[in-house]
Amino acid sequence: MNTPADRLTRRHFVGQLSLGAAALLLASRTRAADTPPSRKLGVVLVGLGNYATTELAPALQLTRRCRLVGVVTGEPATKGRDWARRYGFPEKNIYTYDTMHRMADNPAIDIVYVVTPNALHARDTIAAAKAGKHVISEKPMAVNVAECDAMIAACRSAGVKLSIGYRLHFDPYHQELMRLARDPTFGPFTKINGGFAFVMGHKVWRAERKLAGGGPLMDLGIYVIQNACMAVGGPTSPGGPYVAPVAVTAREGPKTKPEMFADVEQSIQWTLEFADGAPATGRTSYADSYNEFHDDAAHGWFEAKNAFSYNGIRARTSRGPLHFDPPVNQQARQMDDFAECVLANRESRVSGEMGRRDLAIIEAIYASAAAGGRRTPVRV
Ligand code: NAD
Repeated sequence: MNTPADRLTRRHFVGQLSLGAAALLLASRTRAADTPPSRKLGVVLVGLGNYATTELAPALQLTRRCRLVGVVTGEPATKGRDWARRYGFPEKNIYTYDTMHRMADNPAIDIVYVVTPNALHARDTIAAAKAGKHVISEKPMAVNVAECDAMIAACRSAGVKLSIGYRLHFDPYHQELMRLARDPTFGPFTKINGGFAFVMGHKVWRAERKLAGGGPLMDLGIYVIQNACMAVGGPTSPGGPYVAPVAVTAREGPKTKPEMFADVEQSIQWTLEFADGAPATGRTSYADSYNEFHDDAAHGWFEAKNAFSYNGIRARTSRGPLHFDPPVNQQARQMDDFAECVLANRESRVSGEMGRRDLAIIEAIYASAAAGGRRTPVRV
């Protein structure tokens, strides 16, 4: 059956379709047609909150290489059973956070997708790796570099693959940005600016350091950091190496809602300096509303509104408006790509090392905001 995730994106440049883009399109079409049919890998979702419920579970129904075979939840008798009925998997595939080690005895499970609050990603990833399962951890990979190192080490010693839920690497607009970064008739990008913010209505775990590790930088600013690295580095190779800034400066904004943001930032802005001199400024907030970037290149520019959303991205370049039709499901593509990595025994292009790079940048941003001065991200 031809699902939306199967269908190749048709590119409508109202502006100019370059030869490079046409060649890429042809290559990806050939690859899709040549890929042999293969078994679907069993995926377990860990943490049945908003993202797992409204995005990942529906996206799994659109994948070609994955199927939802189980869940990990703190409420196995209610939520777990409800999911088993709704998605047609056996109740023996309902686990709790304390019984994840038992997955080792369940050959139906190939991939564990961790969708818990940020500070629990390391715990749940390491538990899954110890059970011998490949892992996708949601972003941010963890709350500090030390945890990322522990996750990478656990996956390496268990011989399983690790990937991060960076869905925008599978979105055609962001893929086009990465392609243009390496197109000498357009790039490289020389001045990058972006921001992502929403207004938090009431206090949730995202504003608690213990569970979130930080404030909007961890949750939203990470997309702006990713945009800068995409614009400077272009398409990434499986497993890296990944481009990283050589220095970081940052400043926290004032707290107009101190009761809500008692132990995390309410807003923060930063500048990343890359080795080739491109400055990337970014901002994020839980008390404002913006979702955009504008990146200037040597021979053009690329900008987007609704830039970091699941769909409805509105983008244009100096060559004209950009439309990709029909819309893709970013999460279905992301999960299928990881399943293909597992099946082909290759590293993900959004690997644990990339997640670690971003935590190193985030740590440097917080360090600069706290003490001032330029910081170098540690051991990227
Ligand atoms: P959520 O609050 O809706 O869900 C979190 C889930 O974790 C809940 O089911 C909750 O019961 C469970 N949980 C387990 N232990 C918990 C504990 N000790 N305290 C609180 N909850 C606990 O959050 P969400 O929006 O689904 O986000 C989950 C993760 O997914 C976060 O890391 C977030 O950054 C990430 N996320 C990624 C995207 C994306 O586009 N890639 C979008 C949304 C969320």
